[in-house]
Order: sequence, then structure tokens, then C-alpha cells
Amino acid sequence: MSPRIAVIGAGFAGLAAAHRLTKLGAEVSVLEARDRVGGRVWSTTVTAPDGSEHVIERGAEYVLNGYDHLRAILAELGLEQVDTGMSYYVREPGDLPGRTAQDIVEAGRAAGAAIERVSADASAEDVLALLTAEGTPVELVDALRSRIEVSTAVPAATVTAESLAHVASFEPLPSYRIGGGNQRLALGLAELLGSKVRLNTPVSAVENEGHGVRLTLADGSVEEYDAAIVAVPLALLQAEDGRAAPTSPERERALSRVLLGQAAKLHVALGSRPSTSAVMSVAGRYWTWTAYAQDGQVAPVLNAFMGSAPAIAAARLVEDPQAWAPEVAALRPDLDIAPDAVPTVTVWAEDPWARFAYAAHAPGETPVDAAAIEAPIGAVYFAGEYAEAEFTGLMEGAIRSGERAAESVMAAASAKAGA
Ligand SMILES: Cc1cc2nc3c(=O)[nH]c(=O)nc-3n(C[C@H](O)[C@H](O)[C@H](O)COP(=O)(O)OP(=O)(O)OC[C@H]3O[C@@H](n4cnc5c(N)ncnc54)[C@H](O)[C@@H]3O)c2cc1C
Repeated sequence: MSPRIAVIGAGFAGLAAAHRLTKLGAEVSVLEARDRVGGRVWSTTVTAPDGSEHVIERGAEYVLNGYDHLRAILAELGLEQVDTGMSYYVREPGDLPGRTAQDIVEAGRAAGAAIERVSADASAEDVLALLTAEGTPVELVDALRSRIEVSTAVPAATVTAESLAHVASFEPLPSYRIGGGNQRLALGLAELLGSKVRLNTPVSAVENEGHGVRLTLADGSVEEYDAAIVAVPLALLQAEDGRAAPTSPERERALSRVLLGQAAKLHVALGSRPSTSAVMSVAGRYWTWTAYAQDGQVAPVLNAFMGSAPAIAAARLVEDPQAWAPEVAALRPDLDIAPDAVPTVTVWAEDPWARFAYAAHAPGETPVDAAAIEAPIGAVYFAGEYAEAEFTGLMEGAIRSGERAAESVMAAASAKAGA
């Protein structure tokens, strides 16, 4: 008989898990709290002054190097990736007169080499301190600090030195998006899963019971399965008022080195089509860009991304999200921001089903920690961007971890059936 598996959360991790489970012959039910699939991948539109509609990504934006599992799903769903025509990796410093993106690229390469000269448990800030001691100009070191804090969404003193080389790479590689919006991957998988995906169905508790698991739904009803994959954001599992799931001392120890990054985005319509561009505010810990859309033209939309909780607090985005708009306009006087355009601002700390943007690792994180985070507890398995060691914090990491959890569940089910 096919094992009955519950997947909690219909983000990329949960949907990739459910898709793989279905292929492996399981009977699957996906329970999602929101009224939509995709989780932190959320594509909507803005309207330009001429009435045209343009896709924006309120969550994850860039499909980057090495996203092999994501690209395999795109091929399966018949979706295309669209070159943005700019590089996520290279940004002009808009508030550092006399300095260019190339200066930051070169300082970034020096930082990459300096990583070899710090201890294995050093932070990104330790590398920056070494660069300063070796004579790199202070404003370029701060540009690197800003770059790392924007990309990892946490302060540089708290995150591993490797993040400098990994997340905040400085090479001018191409960057892509999914044609029609990144959320189309989630919508495509949900369509294949059909009625197995149940929206507006928050799960309150997951417990091991007997040979299987017992779920308590927010409406008080109870459902039983052979196993469950918990694919909800880590912040919700850790919240005081969070949804109960089993844990262990090993898991908690490993999770203590996982950092919860905070980020916010802004999108505003432009009165005319710009060129592609990427300009950062070193002091404001955000960057702005304009990029090609699926129609092969640059969309008349200015996008901005701010990373790290201190930056979001300093900009008072929770209290007054629109306060960011004049800052962005001042950084980009080259763009034709429509005077009466109301920006769309998304602050992920305020999203009740996410509460943070994505994970990063604190210094000292080891492969043993990664294994402990993914290890099942009884018949409860875990998936999500935070649970993947290599592509932590990214769409690719969510997919890989979901697929891996599905394979582990099925391996255990067949071992049990054969016992
Ligand atoms: C602003 C921002 C920018 C980003 N930029 C990029 C980028 O450029 N490139 C990139 O690769 N990645 C990026 N990311 C990261 C990417 O979005 C995530 O890594 C990935 O989408 C996480 O997928 P997930 O399935 O682990 O979690 P989620 O997408 O959060 O999915 C979890 C799901 O669980 C649901 N849920 C929560 N609680 C419950 C419950 N109790 N019961 C039932 N369901 C529940 C949620 O509603 C959600 O749908 C970005 C993220 C943000 C926020």
C-alpha cells in the first residue's frame, strides 16, 4: 500500500517534496496556511502610467548559478528563464562619489583571497578587519560590509567569512528570473498536484504517535498520516507562539547557528523605459535595479531590496513603509519615477507566515550541524531553505531540501515495508 504522507507548507520546499513523493508512489496531502502557493516566492504586478502591467517579485527574485534542480523543474513544467540583462553580482555605489562597481569588485576579490588567511570559524567582519589592516580604503571596506549585509540579510559580524565568497560573489555572472514570474514554478507544481494541495489550511501541531504522525489543524480537526514533512519557515518553528513540531537537543544545537535574515523590497512604476542598471546605497544597506522582462524590453519598474534588521529598523520600514520611497528617488535621479506612483513595499518580518526573509550561517557551522538540521525525528521530516547546507537561504536550497526529504521518507517507508 502507498504510504500516506502529509507535507506542511506549499513553498518551493513543500511543493518540490510533494512532487517527488508523488513520483515515488506516495499518497500526498499538502496543507498550506495561505490562500496561495509559493510562500516567500510571490509574483504580482505594478501598473505603469501608460496602463501596462509589469510583473514584480515581492520575495525571491534571482535564479543564479548552480540552480540545477530548479532548472530541471522549469524544463519539466515548460517554463523559461529570462535573462535580466544585468548582473545581480555587480552594483554601482550610488552614494560613494568617485568610486565605481569595478572598485568594489576588486575589493571583493581581495576579500575572497583574505578568507584563506583567517581562521575556519571567522566572521565576514573578521575578513573586513584584515582588509582594513592591510590598507584597503575604509569606504571600500564599508561598501563590502554593506554588500554582505544586504545579500545575507544579517550583520557582517554575525555571519561566516565564506558568505563573502558564496552569497555575495562579485563576478559579473548573468542573472535570470522565471518568465511570467517566479511564482509560476509553484503554480505549475500545484497544478500537477491538483486537489492534493489544500489552501487556507494552517497546521497547529505535528506529533509522532504510534507508527505515524498526528496533525492538529487550526480548526481543531485531527488527521493521521504515516509520516510528515514540515516545510514551514524556521522562524515559525522557533516562535514562542509557533506551531508545535518535535525537536531534539542535537537539532536545537545546530539551529542555534542558523541566523534569521530580514529583508524588504520596494517596487515603483516609471514613466518611461530605462536602461538596465544596478545601483546600491552603501549607507542605506539597499540596492536598486532595472531589468529586462520576458518581452525582451527593460520593464518601466524600479526595484529595490534592503537587507538586515538594523537597516530596516533605521529606515523605520515597519512603522512607515513609504518612508523609503524618497530615499530611493534621491539615489536614482536618473530614473523617471512617476510623481503620483504609489510604491509597493514588502517587509517580510511583518508577514505572519514567514516572519523573516531567509537563513544564513553563524561562524562555526559544520557539516554535522547540517545533518542534524535535516535529521528526521520519528516520522517527522524537515525541509526548507534553512535546512540545506550549500544553497542555504535560496530557492534552489528549498527545492533540494524538499526533494531530499521526500527521498528519505520513501527510503524509510520501503525499509519498513521490507522489514
Ligand atoms: C525579499 C526576499 C528576496 C529573496 N531573494 C532571493 C533570490 O533572489 N534568489 C533566491 O534563490 N532566493 C531568494 N529568496 C529566498 C527564497 O524566497 C526562499 O529561500 C524560498 O522561497 C523558501 O522556500 P521554503 O519552501 O523553504 O519556504 P516558504 O517559501 O516560506 O514556504 C513555506 C510555506 O509554509 C506555509 N506555512 C507556514 N506556516 C504554516 C502552517 N502552520 N501550516 C501550513 N502552512 C504553513 C507558508 O505560508 C509558506 O507557503 C528571497 C527571499 C526574500 C524574502
